[in-house]
Amino acid sequence: MKKILVTGGAGFIGGNFVHYMLNKYPEYMIVNLDVLTYAGNLESLKDIENNPNYKFIRGNISDRKFIFELFEQEKFDIVVNFAAESHVDRSVTDPEIFVQTNVIGTQVLLDASRKFRVNRYHQVSTDEVYGDLPLDRLDLFFTENTPLNPSSPYSASKASADFLVQSYHRTFGLPTTISRCSNNYGPYHFPEKLIPLMISRALNNESLPVYGNGENVRDWLHVEDHCSAIDLIIHKGRVGEVYNVGGHNERTNLEVVNTILKTLGKSEELITYVTDRPGHDLRYAIDPHKLENELGWKPKYNFDTGMDTTVKWYLDHKEWWKNIISGEYKNYETVYTNI
Ligand code: NAD
Repeated sequence: MKKILVTGGAGFIGGNFVHYMLNKYPEYMIVNLDVLTYAGNLESLKDIENNPNYKFIRGNISDRKFIFELFEQEKFDIVVNFAAESHVDRSVTDPEIFVQTNVIGTQVLLDASRKFRVNRYHQVSTDEVYGDLPLDRLDLFFTENTPLNPSSPYSASKASADFLVQSYHRTFGLPTTISRCSNNYGPYHFPEKLIPLMISRALNNESLPVYGNGENVRDWLHVEDHCSAIDLIIHKGRVGEVYNVGGHNERTNLEVVNTILKTLGKSEELITYVTDRPGHDLRYAIDPHKLENELGWKPKYNFDTGMDTTVKWYLDHKEWWKNIISGEYKNYETVYTNI
């Protein structure tokens, strides 16, 4: 029996990871620690709330006293840190909470992991720490050796956390790993992010706001493939290492929006172009060869099948996202995003 602390498990990727691990490892105990910001939604975990191998605890990763007491009590084997402020547009309007949660929160978890000797601390990071690539150099990709060059307060806070994680490995010998993943899509994605936002608005025949000319490129990965990568890394990845995670699915934002419109049988006339975000990254593209060659990871979904199943999920789960958008769910406010 292993006990895994998943922080941020009421969010998009953490929630998918909790489901993935409970399905795959019926002998593991999964503890989900989440403070439930506007992005945390226990509705996504309703189906497992009575599972004896699952426990939810509400709490803040930056609360040192609380975190140390929790670690002392629970004796975790593995910590997987998803908890973060994750929305780039929100970091442009209010950077402070990004430093508090993403940097200070990570440091508190690292200190607790060190003191209570966890066997593995895994930091869920992002390809955004590398900055961006030019649109006219399609031969360039982010590797694990690409220097960190973050553009937004969000990615700067994530890069700071990555440096802290690496320093705790080097200085204190903490057994750490880091994964840097490209943009995720799939079930339970908060409807302020590009794909669920466009699906929900298209279904309501509302305009679809696209930043700039829509030519910015993102590299998309189905969230289940991200979960399988983290599963491999925490069990087989070498300590002290960074692993890039990506599925070679580069698409312009406009291509993504058009795929959604086509799948839903809606008109391209719904698209409206809006003023670009300041400092908007041009292109992200991940080279995942280390993960593929060293740990044998392979994504299950290609972009088209992944998008088909995702659009179907949003059609089948209208209640879930309608509760958020209608304001029945706390503090929802639309912040347009083309991530
Ligand atoms: P999300 O915003 O959907 O979820 C974040 C969760 O963290 C929420 O449930 C929130 O309540 C919780 N949280 C926030 N502050 C907290 C705190 N102080 N203490 C405890 N819990 C707190 O985010 P997501 O999209 O699921 O991203 C999860 C992680 O993956 C983040 O670290 C993000 O940087 C990283 N990531 C995301 C993507 C992506 O495409 N979404 C890609 C690569 C990496």
